[in-house]
Order: sequence, then structure tokens, then C-alpha cells
Amino acid sequence: MELLPDIPIPAPKFRLKWDITLGILFIHLGALFAPMTFSWSAFGVFIFFQLLTGCLGITLAFHRLLTHRSFKVPKWLEYTLTLFGSLAIQGGPLKWVATHRVHHAYADRPQDPHSPNRGFWWAHVFWLLAFDDVLDHPTKFTMYVNDLTIDPVHRFIEKTHVLQSVALGVLLFALGGWSWVVWGIFARCTFVWHCTWLVNSAAHIWGYQTYTTNEGSRNNWWVAILTYGEGWHNNHHAYPTSAAHGLKWWEFDLTYAIIKAMALLGWATEIRLPRGNPAQLPALSPAEYAKWARQKTRLPAPPLAGVAA
Ligand SMILES: [Zn+2]
Ligand SMILES: [Zn+2]
Repeated sequence: MELLPDIPIPAPKFRLKWDITLGILFIHLGALFAPMTFSWSAFGVFIFFQLLTGCLGITLAFHRLLTHRSFKVPKWLEYTLTLFGSLAIQGGPLKWVATHRVHHAYADRPQDPHSPNRGFWWAHVFWLLAFDDVLDHPTKFTMYVNDLTIDPVHRFIEKTHVLQSVALGVLLFALGGWSWVVWGIFARCTFVWHCTWLVNSAAHIWGYQTYTTNEGSRNNWWVAILTYGEGWHNNHHAYPTSAAHGLKWWEFDLTYAIIKAMALLGWATEIRLPRGNPAQLPALSPAEYAKWARQKTRLPAPPLAGVAA
């Protein structure tokens, strides 16, 4: 794992990001219209775009390619796949990758943006609504993504990621009316979001640990099905730069199968696989656990022994 500079432990306060909160509510409310606007063509659009944005965009591109550089593709393909990820409306590639690199560096520590040690719903969605002093700073977060920040195409995709989805919505409306917009944007985004979010919540709570990684990551079969292999999350924390996340014969990993198919076409090269000992974070000291518990419950530090309250 790459060594990252230390960052200050976030203060146990909650500053709501209104734009993100309203955006997440808006997309969920739009998804409620799915039963009333169902058509088989709209369902086809849903399936197509959830594969394009969820599997190829988020899992294969944002996660395994950009965050961990577990394989290489030609630049034209890297940009195309990054655009697919951007259409998942999970933020642009720079912020997404920075957030995930911080998660790996501090998994289930106080600095982790989305540890379920703060509760299931914090890890699943509430962390997205809270302002983070580093990751939401206009420039500070870029120290985690210098490799992407220097690339003008990635900067452009980052800046325009909302507009790209607006343009896709207009195109779907022109081709198939509201039915295609509801299923191709609102229902599809809601579905892909919750699948991605389950990796942060469920796959850090339920499942088995093949490797001792000193944090809560788990291998979870049903999250792996919903996320095209991302649910083999304990394997992934043990070997973050491996392109394969499923490591046992029964740990099916569709994304790795796609990477291997891309290799046959000559598109994917320098595919990295597990090597050496698994990555392991240092175990937390009792003092660190105590600090963690205070942050979790957002209570002030207990009075020192012997000091009258
Ligand atoms: Zn994790
Ligand atoms: Zn990762």
C-alpha cells in the first residue's frame, strides 16, 4: 500500500452538505416513479446503464484501475471508462479516488471517512452528507490524487461530472421519454449507489475474514453478487493492488473476468495479482480505541480520574 501523509483526526462535529443531501433525496424521489413508468425498453435501459456505470465505471475504472492501478489500459480506454464511472453520479474521479485511498490508509480508524464503527447508516450513506475538512476542501484532497490531478482530461471529467448526467438525461428523454429517464437515471443511480454503499457498510460488518487485516473488512457473497466482485472486500484490503478480488474458486468476481477478457484483446496489461504477505494495518492501542469510542458517540471526553465533576 502507498504511504500517505497523516491527516488530522476529524472533529466529532457534523456539518451538513446541503447540496449533496438534496441531490441524494432528489434522485431517490425520482426513483419512486419507477413502478408507474415501467416498460420493457426502460428496464433494458436500466440494465444497460447499471452495467456500464456500476460495473465498468465504478468497480473496474474508478476502483481497480484509477484508485489502485491494478492493471493498465490505453489512455483512450482509461478516459472512456472514467466517463462511465462519472455517469454513476458518485462524484468525479478525483474526489472518489482520494476518498477511497484515505479509506484504505485508515480503514476503521478515526480518519476513515465511512467506517461502520460509527454505525451502519453512517457507513452506508450519512458520511456522504457530512462536510469533511480534508476531502471536501477545494485543494487539500488533491494530495491523495497527484497522479490524476496532473492529467487535464481527468480534471475536465471531474469538473463536468454533473453536466454529463444532465446531458445523458436529455438524450434518454429524446429517445424514450420520461420512462427512460426515470429508469435510466433515477432508478439506475439509486440502485448502483446502494450497491456501492453496501461495500462500505455491509462488507465491513458481515461475512468472513480470510486474512488478518486489523480492521473490519469482510468477504460477503451477496455484496459480491450485487457489486460484480467488490464484496470480496477482506481479500481486497489484504491485497489492495490485486486486480482479482475473488481469490478462492467459489469467490466469483465478474470484474476480474472482464479484465482478463480485456487482456485477451490486448487492452489490459500489467495485471497485478496477490504477492507476498497480506497488507495489515497496525493494531489500535487501547488509547486509540478510547478516542474512537468517544467520537462514535460524540460525547465529550470523560473527566480525569480523581478530578471532581
Ligand atoms: Zn473497505
Ligand atoms: Zn479499494
